[in-house]
Amino acid sequence: MSLNVDISRLMSRLEILSGFNATPGKGITRFSYSPEDREARKYLEALFSSMGLKTTVDGAGNMRARLEGSDPGAPAVLSGSHIDTVLHGGKYDGAVGTLGAIEAVQAIMESGLPRRCPLEVAMFAEEEGSNFGSTLAGSKALVGKYTLAHMEKLKTPEGKSMAGLLREGGYTPESMADNLLRPETIKAMVELHIEQSVVLESRGVPVGIVEAVAGIRVLEIRIRGVPNHAGATPMTLRQDPLAAGARLMGTIEDLAKKSATGSTVATVGKILCRPNVSNIIPEEVTFTVDIRDVQDAGIESVAAGIEKAAEALAASRDVSVDVVHISESAPVLLDGHIAGVTETCARRRNFRYARMNSGAVHDACMFAPLVPTGMIFIPSKGGRSHVPEEFTGKEDIGKGVSLLADVLYELSK
Ligand SMILES: [Zn+2]
Repeated sequence: MSLNVDISRLMSRLEILSGFNATPGKGITRFSYSPEDREARKYLEALFSSMGLKTTVDGAGNMRARLEGSDPGAPAVLSGSHIDTVLHGGKYDGAVGTLGAIEAVQAIMESGLPRRCPLEVAMFAEEEGSNFGSTLAGSKALVGKYTLAHMEKLKTPEGKSMAGLLREGGYTPESMADNLLRPETIKAMVELHIEQSVVLESRGVPVGIVEAVAGIRVLEIRIRGVPNHAGATPMTLRQDPLAAGARLMGTIEDLAKKSATGSTVATVGKILCRPNVSNIIPEEVTFTVDIRDVQDAGIESVAAGIEKAAEALAASRDVSVDVVHISESAPVLLDGHIAGVTETCARRRNFRYARMNSGAVHDACMFAPLVPTGMIFIPSKGGRSHVPEEFTGKEDIGKGVSLLADVLYELSK
Protein backbone atom coordinates (compact mmCIF):
# COMPACT_ATOMS: atom_id res chain seq x y z
CA MET A 1 0.00 0.00 0.00
CA SER A 2 1.27 3.46 -0.72
CA LEU A 3 -0.69 6.64 -0.23
CA ASN A 4 0.95 9.86 -1.32
CA VAL A 5 -0.48 13.04 0.10
CA ASP A 6 0.35 16.18 -1.85
CA ILE A 7 1.70 18.44 0.87
CA SER A 8 2.29 21.40 -1.46
CA ARG A 9 -1.34 21.24 -2.55
CA LEU A 10 -2.43 21.22 1.09
CA MET A 11 -0.15 24.12 2.06
CA SER A 12 -1.40 26.27 -0.81
CA ARG A 13 -4.99 25.52 0.23
CA LEU A 14 -4.10 26.53 3.78
CA GLU A 15 -2.78 29.85 2.42
CA ILE A 16 -6.00 30.43 0.49
CA LEU A 17 -8.18 29.56 3.51
CA SER A 18 -6.11 31.98 5.65
CA GLY A 19 -7.10 34.73 3.23
CA PHE A 20 -10.72 34.57 4.45
CA ASN A 21 -9.91 36.73 7.42
CA ALA A 22 -11.59 39.69 9.12
CA THR A 23 -8.32 40.99 10.66
CA PRO A 24 -5.53 40.87 8.04
CA GLY A 25 -2.13 41.52 9.64
CA LYS A 26 -3.49 40.75 13.11
CA GLY A 27 -3.82 36.99 13.07
CA ILE A 28 -6.81 35.14 11.69
CA THR A 29 -10.34 36.09 12.73
CA ARG A 30 -12.99 33.95 11.10
CA PHE A 31 -16.08 33.48 13.23
CA SER A 32 -18.69 30.95 12.15
CA TYR A 33 -21.53 32.44 10.07
CA SER A 34 -19.51 35.64 9.36
CA PRO A 35 -18.89 36.96 5.82
CA GLU A 36 -15.35 35.46 5.96
CA ASP A 37 -16.79 32.11 7.03
CA ARG A 38 -19.26 32.25 4.14
CA GLU A 39 -16.40 32.79 1.66
CA ALA A 40 -14.34 30.01 3.26
CA ARG A 41 -17.31 27.64 2.99
CA LYS A 42 -17.70 28.45 -0.69
CA TYR A 43 -14.03 27.60 -1.12
CA LEU A 44 -14.42 24.24 0.67
CA GLU A 45 -17.49 23.45 -1.39
CA ALA A 46 -15.50 24.19 -4.56
CA LEU A 47 -12.75 21.82 -3.36
CA PHE A 48 -15.30 19.07 -2.72
CA SER A 49 -16.93 19.61 -6.07
CA SER A 50 -13.52 19.49 -7.82
CA MET A 51 -13.16 16.04 -6.23
CA GLY A 52 -16.59 15.09 -7.57
CA LEU A 53 -18.13 15.15 -4.09
CA LYS A 54 -21.46 16.66 -3.17
CA THR A 55 -21.57 18.87 -0.08
CA THR A 56 -24.38 18.71 2.44
CA VAL A 57 -24.90 21.33 5.14
CA ASP A 58 -27.05 20.75 8.22
CA GLY A 59 -29.18 23.18 10.22
CA ALA A 60 -26.28 24.17 12.49
CA GLY A 61 -23.97 24.88 9.57
CA ASN A 62 -21.88 21.69 9.78
CA MET A 63 -20.63 20.70 6.31
CA ARG A 64 -20.09 17.14 5.15
CA ALA A 65 -18.95 15.58 1.87
CA ARG A 66 -18.97 11.89 1.07
CA LEU A 67 -16.98 9.54 -1.15
CA GLU A 68 -18.78 6.23 -1.61
CA GLY A 69 -17.07 2.87 -1.12
CA SER A 70 -17.78 -0.45 -2.82
CA ASP A 71 -20.43 -1.37 -0.24
CA PRO A 72 -23.21 1.24 -0.26
CA GLY A 73 -24.63 -0.09 3.01
CA ALA A 74 -21.34 0.06 4.93
CA PRO A 75 -20.87 2.66 7.68
CA ALA A 76 -18.58 5.59 6.82
CA VAL A 77 -15.15 6.50 8.12
CA LEU A 78 -15.31 10.20 8.94
CA SER A 79 -12.61 12.80 9.45
CA GLY A 80 -12.77 16.53 9.95
CA SER A 81 -12.33 19.51 12.22
CA HIS A 82 -13.33 23.18 12.22
CA ILE A 83 -12.40 26.36 10.32
CA ASP A 84 -13.68 28.98 12.76
CA THR A 85 -11.12 30.81 14.90
CA VAL A 86 -10.89 32.89 18.04
CA LEU A 87 -10.37 36.66 17.73
CA HIS A 88 -6.84 37.20 16.31
CA GLY A 89 -6.18 33.46 16.27
CA GLY A 90 -3.79 31.36 14.22
CA LYS A 91 -4.07 29.72 10.83
CA TYR A 92 -3.51 26.09 11.86
CA ASP A 93 -6.03 25.40 14.65
CA GLY A 94 -8.87 23.44 13.04
CA ALA A 95 -7.88 24.42 9.49
CA VAL A 96 -5.12 21.79 9.35
CA GLY A 97 -7.55 19.08 10.45
CA THR A 98 -10.21 20.14 7.95
CA LEU A 99 -7.91 20.59 4.95
CA GLY A 100 -5.90 17.57 6.13
CA ALA A 101 -9.02 15.39 6.00
CA ILE A 102 -9.74 16.67 2.48
CA GLU A 103 -6.16 15.94 1.39
CA ALA A 104 -6.18 12.49 3.01
CA VAL A 105 -9.43 11.52 1.28
CA GLN A 106 -8.18 12.94 -2.01
CA ALA A 107 -4.95 10.91 -1.70
CA ILE A 108 -6.97 7.74 -1.05
CA MET A 109 -9.21 8.56 -4.00
CA GLU A 110 -6.23 9.18 -6.30
CA SER A 111 -4.51 5.95 -5.21
CA GLY A 112 -7.34 3.93 -6.72
CA LEU A 113 -6.96 1.40 -3.89
CA PRO A 114 -10.05 -0.75 -3.29
CA ARG A 115 -12.14 0.27 -0.32
CA ARG A 116 -15.38 -1.04 1.15
CA CYS A 117 -16.56 1.79 3.40
CA PRO A 118 -17.51 5.32 2.36
CA LEU A 119 -15.23 8.17 3.46
CA GLU A 120 -16.65 11.41 4.80
CA VAL A 121 -15.03 14.78 5.40
CA ALA A 122 -16.69 17.09 7.91
CA MET A 123 -16.30 20.72 8.88
CA PHE A 124 -17.93 21.49 12.22
CA ALA A 125 -19.35 24.96 12.80
CA GLU A 126 -18.71 27.22 15.80
CA GLU A 127 -16.10 25.03 17.53
CA GLU A 128 -14.31 27.88 19.28
CA GLY A 129 -17.36 29.44 20.89
CA SER A 130 -16.32 32.84 19.49
CA ASN A 131 -19.91 33.90 18.78
CA PHE A 132 -21.87 32.58 21.74
CA GLY A 133 -19.23 31.75 24.35
CA SER A 134 -19.99 28.04 24.11
CA THR A 135 -17.45 25.70 22.48
CA LEU A 136 -18.27 22.82 20.10
CA ALA A 137 -21.74 24.25 19.37
CA GLY A 138 -21.89 22.73 15.85
CA SER A 139 -20.85 19.22 16.85
CA LYS A 140 -23.04 19.43 19.96
CA ALA A 141 -26.02 20.18 17.71
CA LEU A 142 -25.05 17.29 15.44
CA VAL A 143 -25.09 14.76 18.28
CA GLY A 144 -28.24 16.23 19.86
CA LYS A 145 -26.57 17.79 22.91
CA TYR A 146 -27.79 21.18 21.74
CA THR A 147 -31.42 21.29 20.67
CA LEU A 148 -33.23 24.11 18.90
CA ALA A 149 -34.10 25.48 22.35
CA HIS A 150 -30.38 25.72 23.20
CA MET A 151 -29.69 27.39 19.85
CA GLU A 152 -32.40 29.97 20.61
CA LYS A 153 -30.84 30.66 24.01
CA LEU A 154 -27.18 30.94 22.96
CA LYS A 155 -26.55 34.64 22.29
CA THR A 156 -23.76 36.82 20.91
CA PRO A 157 -22.69 39.78 23.09
CA GLU A 158 -24.97 41.86 20.82
CA GLY A 159 -27.92 39.64 21.72
CA LYS A 160 -28.26 37.68 18.46
CA SER A 161 -29.21 34.06 19.01
CA MET A 162 -27.44 31.15 17.36
CA ALA A 163 -30.74 30.08 15.77
CA GLY A 164 -31.34 33.62 14.50
CA LEU A 165 -27.84 33.92 13.05
CA LEU A 166 -28.28 30.53 11.37
CA ARG A 167 -31.59 31.59 9.80
CA GLU A 168 -30.01 34.84 8.57
CA GLY A 169 -27.28 32.74 6.94
CA GLY A 170 -29.85 30.62 5.13
CA TYR A 171 -29.61 27.58 7.41
CA THR A 172 -32.63 25.92 8.99
CA PRO A 173 -31.88 25.15 12.65
CA GLU A 174 -35.39 23.62 12.94
CA SER A 175 -34.24 20.77 10.68
CA MET A 176 -31.48 19.72 13.07
CA ALA A 177 -33.73 17.42 15.11
CA ASP A 178 -34.32 15.28 12.01
CA ASN A 179 -30.66 15.27 10.98
CA LEU A 180 -28.86 14.14 14.11
CA LEU A 181 -25.82 11.93 13.79
CA ARG A 182 -26.87 8.31 13.46
CA PRO A 183 -24.05 6.38 15.16
CA GLU A 184 -24.78 3.21 13.19
CA THR A 185 -23.85 5.06 9.97
CA ILE A 186 -20.34 5.92 11.20
CA LYS A 187 -17.69 3.23 11.60
CA ALA A 188 -15.03 5.56 12.96
CA MET A 189 -14.18 9.23 13.43
CA VAL A 190 -10.57 10.45 13.34
CA GLU A 191 -9.60 14.10 13.85
CA LEU A 192 -6.20 15.57 13.05
CA HIS A 193 -5.36 18.65 15.13
CA ILE A 194 -2.42 20.76 16.20
CA GLU A 195 -1.37 19.90 19.74
CA GLN A 196 -1.62 23.46 21.16
CA SER A 197 0.92 22.48 23.81
CA VAL A 198 4.61 21.67 24.17
CA VAL A 199 4.71 17.90 24.71
CA LEU A 200 5.52 16.84 21.13
CA GLU A 201 7.96 19.68 20.48
CA SER A 202 9.82 19.16 23.74
CA ARG A 203 10.18 15.45 23.00
CA GLY A 204 11.11 16.03 19.36
CA VAL A 205 8.29 13.77 18.17
CA PRO A 206 6.30 14.68 15.02
CA VAL A 207 3.01 12.91 15.77
CA GLY A 208 0.94 12.20 18.85
CA ILE A 209 -1.66 9.46 19.20
CA VAL A 210 -4.29 10.80 21.58
CA GLU A 211 -5.68 8.33 24.10
CA ALA A 212 -7.86 10.59 26.23
CA VAL A 213 -9.09 14.15 26.47
CA ALA A 214 -9.01 15.77 29.89
CA GLY A 215 -12.20 16.55 31.76
CA ILE A 216 -12.64 20.06 33.13
CA ARG A 217 -14.24 21.36 36.30
CA VAL A 218 -14.54 25.11 36.77
CA LEU A 219 -15.07 26.49 40.26
CA GLU A 220 -15.55 30.04 41.41
CA ILE A 221 -14.24 30.99 44.84
CA ARG A 222 -15.94 33.95 46.53
CA ILE A 223 -14.29 35.34 49.63
CA ARG A 224 -15.89 38.12 51.66
CA GLY A 225 -14.11 40.03 54.40
CA VAL A 226 -14.45 43.45 56.01
CA PRO A 227 -13.23 46.49 54.06
CA ASN A 228 -11.21 48.89 56.12
CA HIS A 229 -8.49 51.54 56.19
CA ALA A 230 -5.13 50.24 54.93
CA GLY A 231 -3.21 52.42 57.38
CA ALA A 232 -5.30 52.39 60.51
CA THR A 233 -6.16 48.68 60.75
CA PRO A 234 -3.56 46.59 62.64
CA MET A 235 -2.44 43.36 60.95
CA THR A 236 -3.92 41.26 63.74
CA LEU A 237 -7.40 42.77 63.36
CA ARG A 238 -7.96 42.35 59.64
CA GLN A 239 -10.50 40.25 57.77
CA ASP A 240 -8.73 40.53 54.42
CA PRO A 241 -10.27 38.41 51.63
CA LEU A 242 -7.40 39.04 49.21
CA ALA A 243 -4.69 37.89 51.62
CA ALA A 244 -6.87 34.83 52.32
CA GLY A 245 -7.35 34.24 48.58
CA ALA A 246 -3.61 34.45 47.95
CA ARG A 247 -3.02 31.67 50.52
CA LEU A 248 -5.72 29.56 48.91
CA MET A 249 -4.20 30.02 45.43
CA GLY A 250 -0.89 28.70 46.72
CA THR A 251 -2.68 25.70 48.21
CA ILE A 252 -4.47 25.04 44.89
CA GLU A 253 -1.14 24.92 43.07
CA ASP A 254 0.25 22.50 45.69
CA LEU A 255 -2.85 20.28 45.51
CA ALA A 256 -2.51 19.91 41.72
CA LYS A 257 1.23 19.24 41.93
CA LYS A 258 0.69 16.54 44.56
CA SER A 259 -2.37 14.97 42.90
CA ALA A 260 -2.30 11.18 43.05
CA THR A 261 -2.92 10.76 39.30
CA GLY A 262 0.12 12.86 38.42
CA SER A 263 -1.76 14.39 35.50
CA THR A 264 -3.95 17.00 37.20
CA VAL A 265 -3.52 20.66 36.31
CA ALA A 266 -5.24 23.55 38.10
CA THR A 267 -5.27 27.18 37.03
CA VAL A 268 -6.45 30.40 38.62
CA GLY A 269 -6.95 32.49 35.50
CA LYS A 270 -9.39 35.20 36.50
CA ILE A 271 -9.58 37.33 39.61
CA LEU A 272 -11.82 40.20 40.64
CA CYS A 273 -11.12 42.34 43.67
CA ARG A 274 -13.56 44.85 45.11
CA PRO A 275 -13.17 47.79 45.51
CA ASN A 276 -9.65 47.30 44.01
CA VAL A 277 -8.23 50.44 45.58
CA SER A 278 -4.64 50.62 46.84
CA ASN A 279 -5.39 52.02 50.31
CA ILE A 280 -8.44 49.93 51.20
CA ILE A 281 -8.38 46.40 52.60
CA PRO A 282 -10.68 44.69 50.05
CA GLU A 283 -14.25 43.74 50.78
CA GLU A 284 -14.63 40.87 48.34
CA VAL A 285 -12.43 38.74 46.10
CA THR A 286 -13.68 36.32 43.47
CA PHE A 287 -11.50 34.02 41.39
CA THR A 288 -11.94 31.02 39.13
CA VAL A 289 -10.23 27.64 39.33
CA ASP A 290 -9.98 25.50 36.19
CA ILE A 291 -9.12 21.89 37.12
CA ARG A 292 -8.33 19.33 34.40
CA ASP A 293 -7.35 15.68 34.30
CA VAL A 294 -7.92 12.65 32.09
CA GLN A 295 -8.94 10.80 35.25
CA ASP A 296 -11.97 11.86 37.27
CA ALA A 297 -10.13 10.90 40.46
CA GLY A 298 -7.57 13.67 39.94
CA ILE A 299 -10.24 16.34 39.50
CA GLU A 300 -12.19 14.98 42.49
CA SER A 301 -9.21 14.97 44.83
CA VAL A 302 -8.11 18.52 43.96
CA ALA A 303 -11.69 19.83 44.22
CA ALA A 304 -12.13 18.11 47.60
CA GLY A 305 -8.81 19.55 48.78
CA ILE A 306 -9.95 23.03 47.77
CA GLU A 307 -13.21 22.64 49.74
CA LYS A 308 -11.29 21.57 52.82
CA ALA A 309 -8.73 24.36 52.52
CA ALA A 310 -11.53 26.91 52.00
CA GLU A 311 -13.24 25.81 55.21
CA ALA A 312 -10.03 26.00 57.21
CA LEU A 313 -9.26 29.42 55.75
CA ALA A 314 -12.70 30.78 56.61
CA ALA A 315 -12.23 29.70 60.22
CA SER A 316 -8.66 30.88 60.68
CA ARG A 317 -9.04 34.26 58.96
CA ASP A 318 -12.60 35.13 59.90
CA VAL A 319 -13.75 35.60 56.30
CA SER A 320 -16.57 33.84 54.46
CA VAL A 321 -15.50 31.51 51.65
CA ASP A 322 -17.93 30.03 49.13
CA VAL A 323 -16.85 27.46 46.56
CA VAL A 324 -19.31 27.58 43.66
CA HIS A 325 -19.48 24.90 40.99
CA ILE A 326 -19.62 26.68 37.60
CA SER A 327 -19.30 23.97 34.95
CA GLU A 328 -18.03 20.49 34.30
CA SER A 329 -17.18 18.19 31.42
CA ALA A 330 -16.14 14.60 31.99
CA PRO A 331 -12.84 13.14 30.70
CA VAL A 332 -13.22 11.47 27.29
CA LEU A 333 -11.55 8.17 26.48
CA LEU A 334 -10.74 7.65 22.81
CA ASP A 335 -10.91 4.29 21.04
CA GLY A 336 -8.09 1.85 21.77
CA HIS A 337 -8.43 0.00 18.47
CA ILE A 338 -8.08 3.20 16.42
CA ALA A 339 -5.05 4.20 18.53
CA GLY A 340 -3.56 0.77 17.76
CA VAL A 341 -4.21 1.13 14.01
CA THR A 342 -2.63 4.61 14.13
CA GLU A 343 0.41 3.21 15.93
CA THR A 344 0.83 0.44 13.32
CA CYS A 345 0.57 2.99 10.49
CA ALA A 346 3.10 5.32 12.17
CA ARG A 347 5.58 2.42 12.56
CA ARG A 348 5.12 1.46 8.92
CA ARG A 349 6.09 4.99 7.90
CA ASN A 350 8.96 5.06 10.41
CA PHE A 351 7.43 8.09 12.12
CA ARG A 352 8.39 8.63 15.74
CA TYR A 353 5.21 9.01 17.78
CA ALA A 354 4.03 9.46 21.34
CA ARG A 355 0.86 8.23 22.97
CA MET A 356 -0.54 11.19 24.85
CA ASN A 357 -3.55 13.00 26.29
CA SER A 358 -5.20 16.22 25.24
CA GLY A 359 -5.73 19.06 27.67
CA ALA A 360 -8.05 20.87 25.25
CA VAL A 361 -11.46 19.70 24.01
CA HIS A 362 -12.12 19.05 20.33
CA ASP A 363 -15.06 18.12 18.09
CA ALA A 364 -13.90 14.49 18.38
CA CYS A 365 -15.04 14.57 22.04
CA MET A 366 -18.67 14.80 20.91
CA PHE A 367 -18.27 11.67 18.79
CA ALA A 368 -16.31 9.56 21.29
CA PRO A 369 -19.30 8.45 23.40
CA LEU A 370 -21.20 7.43 20.24
CA VAL A 371 -18.74 5.98 17.72
CA PRO A 372 -15.13 4.70 17.83
CA THR A 373 -13.08 7.90 17.78
CA GLY A 374 -9.39 8.71 17.45
CA MET A 375 -7.19 11.80 17.29
CA ILE A 376 -3.78 12.56 15.81
CA PHE A 377 -1.76 15.53 17.10
CA ILE A 378 1.06 17.37 15.36
CA PRO A 379 3.44 19.79 17.14
CA SER A 380 2.72 23.44 17.85
CA LYS A 381 5.80 25.68 17.82
CA GLY A 382 6.48 26.81 21.38
CA GLY A 383 3.16 25.22 22.31
CA ARG A 384 1.43 28.43 21.24
CA SER A 385 -2.11 28.54 19.88
CA HIS A 386 -5.07 30.95 19.66
CA VAL A 387 -2.51 33.66 18.82
CA PRO A 388 -1.21 35.00 15.48
CA GLU A 389 2.17 33.32 16.21
CA GLU A 390 0.58 29.84 16.12
CA PHE A 391 2.78 27.69 13.85
CA THR A 392 3.21 24.10 12.73
CA GLY A 393 5.89 23.25 10.16
CA LYS A 394 5.12 21.92 6.69
CA GLU A 395 7.03 18.71 7.35
CA ASP A 396 5.04 17.94 10.50
CA ILE A 397 1.77 18.73 8.73
CA GLY A 398 2.84 16.37 5.94
CA LYS A 399 3.52 13.59 8.45
CA GLY A 400 0.23 14.14 10.25
CA VAL A 401 -1.81 14.11 7.05
CA SER A 402 0.05 11.06 5.66
CA LEU A 403 -0.68 9.20 8.88
CA LEU A 404 -4.32 10.34 8.78
CA ALA A 405 -4.65 9.07 5.20
CA ASP A 406 -3.18 5.68 6.16
CA VAL A 407 -5.49 5.36 9.17
CA LEU A 408 -8.62 6.37 7.23
CA TYR A 409 -7.74 3.89 4.51
CA GLU A 410 -7.03 1.04 6.97
CA LEU A 411 -10.36 1.65 8.71
CA SER A 412 -12.30 1.84 5.44
CA LYS A 413 -10.88 -1.32 3.80
ZN1 LIG B 1 -9.30 23.57 17.28
